[in-house]
Amino acid sequence: MTESEIRGKDPRQECQTQDGVSCPQTPPWHPRVSLMTGLPFIPIAILAAFVLLQTSILKLILWVAVLGIFAYPLRYLICARCPYYGQNCSTSFGRIVPRMFRKQEGRSMKLGLWLDVVVIALLLLIPLPEIWQVGGLLLTALWLGAFFLFFAVLTKMACSLCPFTFCPIGQAGKAFWGSMNRT
Ligand code: SF4
Repeated sequence: MTESEIRGKDPRQECQTQDGVSCPQTPPWHPRVSLMTGLPFIPIAILAAFVLLQTSILKLILWVAVLGIFAYPLRYLICARCPYYGQNCSTSFGRIVPRMFRKQEGRSMKLGLWLDVVVIALLLLIPLPEIWQVGGLLLTALWLGAFFLFFAVLTKMACSLCPFTFCPIGQAGKAFWGSMNRT
């Protein structure tokens, strides 16, 4: 059941607009989705810490700083502007963000969503040379696989229901799952 169904509302009856796109008033995701989409990040954090602690403390600090940018300032550019501010959305940030920022009513999320892509790419790339150095092909495959799992879970469980057609991750997810369904 989605949050709309739990609250007894028909999500098609109420709409709001974000970046020119019409969105249901209540989140289209089951509350469990916000927890599930965060879980694949645990092996990513463990692997990054495991490798960088042995190889480069400076890179570990850089990696944690980039993670901090993802978790805090980017939430101002994305989640504080989102119609699902303060609700169970596709990630746990929906519930957390009111403790971080006031709602930024009527402001665009597009820049933040693109910066999300840049920051996720940096999180993947920063430890890559050290991962190769420590564990060769096997650990590199594990690292890339962990990011693929993160992408697959997010796009399957969250983006497939997300109304934000302007989101680059959502567009990539729809293209990926569309091509999987065709093959
Ligand atoms: S499409 Fe996916 S990544 Fe983009 S805002 Fe929606 S749930 Fe989040």
